[in-house]
Amino acid sequence: MFDACEICGDTGWSVVYEGRIRAGGFGQTYEAGRVGRCGGCGVERLDEACSIDSAAYESEAYRAALGQGLSTEAFFAHADPTQLQNLTALWPLSLRGKILADIGCGAGSFLDHVSGLAAEIIAIEPTPLYRDSLGQRGYAHFAYASDAAAARPASVDIAVTFQVIEHVSDPVGFLRDIHALLKPGGEIVIATPNRADILMTLLPDEFPAFYYRQVHRWYFAADSLRLCAEKAGFTVNEERFVHGFGMANALSWLRDRKPTGHRTLPGIDRTADSQWRAYLEATGQADTLYLRARRPL
Ligand SMILES: [Zn+2]
Repeated sequence: MFDACEICGDTGWSVVYEGRIRAGGFGQTYEAGRVGRCGGCGVERLDEACSIDSAAYESEAYRAALGQGLSTEAFFAHADPTQLQNLTALWPLSLRGKILADIGCGAGSFLDHVSGLAAEIIAIEPTPLYRDSLGQRGYAHFAYASDAAAARPASVDIAVTFQVIEHVSDPVGFLRDIHALLKPGGEIVIATPNRADILMTLLPDEFPAFYYRQVHRWYFAADSLRLCAEKAGFTVNEERFVHGFGMANALSWLRDRKPTGHRTLPGIDRTADSQWRAYLEATGQADTLYLRARRPL
């Protein structure tokens, strides 16, 4: 059913989930999902037969499948609220005066938040619609990291790639391309949904149908993401967990056993949210996993 693991080479997969997964936008489903866990590195993988062809990354239909709409405005509406989370994960890494690349930057929400700090920015995004907008806004841009690395090898101080690695066919190859783009000593910050999200533990019968989705091939926990970065030649500095949702989201899930979109509940305020986030981030149960690694000198 599964080939040798693209990360560790192991062939011993066990099926950990079969059934309904998310198909695209909110509420859309695909019934025949199947997820395996690698016995070697622990990464989880969606059966390729259930996955969306990676050649579709450049298409606007792919963005539609992500539920993100087809305009830069729709992208910003989705992505802008997540940038505090990304900035929190970067802190205290300073971007001031650095050459920065964002791989899979979409329409450039994160780049807009930091463009006054970096000396130079390289925007990497396969969707032509977004590249047109990035170019009009003055960003140097490429479709793929391999294109940028061919044009400007070993030129970047800091590379970020937020919520991208879970989509690609070959995650080690994806990171190797970024490795070639970085200067020796340059750093990468990788973000991906955390397989150890507390809702996977609290709601093992309901949450997986929401967590697993057709557009995500890979489901990483800290150990498997670390190994993936090491296979690509990086030295891992730090893993960090950041939780985007507030306490009301988890309580709504526990009450309703389905996604409701609720971000607020009576009696749950910002103090409750901050305590809840601090607990999940300290115990590795937050919704987003960040890994910071370095291309060795
Ligand atoms: Zn593996």
